[in-house]
Amino acid sequence: MILPDPVGWPLTVAAASNVTPQMRRIELSNPALAAFDYLPGQDMALAFSKDDGTTVRRRYTIRRFDRNRASLMIDVVLHGDGPGMRWARAARPGISIDAIGPRGKITLVDDAEWHLFAGDATAVPGAFAMMETLAGEVPAHAFLLVDGPEERQRITADGAPRTIAWRYEMSQPPESSGLVSAVAAADFPGGRGHAYLAGEVALVSALKAALLNRGWGAEQISAKAYWNRGRANAGHGEPELKAS
Ligand SMILES: Cc1cc2nc3c(=O)[nH]c(=O)nc-3n(C[C@H](O)[C@H](O)[C@H](O)COP(=O)(O)OP(=O)(O)OC[C@H]3O[C@@H](n4cnc5c(N)ncnc54)[C@H](O)[C@@H]3O)c2cc1C
Repeated sequence: MILPDPVGWPLTVAAASNVTPQMRRIELSNPALAAFDYLPGQDMALAFSKDDGTTVRRRYTIRRFDRNRASLMIDVVLHGDGPGMRWARAARPGISIDAIGPRGKITLVDDAEWHLFAGDATAVPGAFAMMETLAGEVPAHAFLLVDGPEERQRITADGAPRTIAWRYEMSQPPESSGLVSAVAAADFPGGRGHAYLAGEVALVSALKAALLNRGWGAEQISAKAYWNRGRANAGHGEPELKAS
């Protein structure tokens, strides 16, 4: 698989609105994006200036790309108190932001007979972007942990075999929540599956361990820790403590 080279893009907010109470969708545009190339699951690293003049990057998965509008959408979870969340909450049409992309190496593998997506709210944009891209007959199952039923989103699937199991265990530590036990006990289809795991560091570790315990090979699992509970991501946008 050849990944497109990441390049810098000066972008402008074209639209911003909440798709759920805690998920803000931001459309970013630039006429030059007509030449943009990416693979579903890849992300953009946005650059935020700090008061001391330094720059901090935060990464957001490309939810959709529209070549005709020369724009892409990101969905930002409104949690925590970092520069990314603050920017998303305040985003309004006309605001400029520098981005580098596409970033990331996780995208759909082409030798799987079915696909499994699991993670928390930050995994939803990537899971939906990849599920909507799969050929119609290819099964996909998602297990997603969000704040509550109001955070569920509908997928555009046109009758394709897609199932989404939402979990809302707010009082549980995510890694010991019903999401992990649901993945551990799920009745999976036959054939070779591939899993895409994303979200908080401990949750991703627990999900990966659950699949390895079920006999999955490490090569069947694409796992990426997106954020770290109680600890800001590093300046380049990744959590400093990575999932195993
Ligand atoms: C490849 C990649 C793709 C990603 N795609 C997306 C995406 O599509 N949408 C998305 O929303 N996020 C996505 N993330 C995660 C996002 O970059 C992190 O959540 C990041 O920490 C947000 O930056 P911040 O400046 O808001 O918070 P930070 O400055 O990193 O952290 C400040 C505080 O907020 C907390 N915090 C950060 N994120 C969350 C959260 N989601 N829930 C609860 N508390 C949090 C931290 O624990 C910390 O205490 C992605 C990350 C990576 C590496």
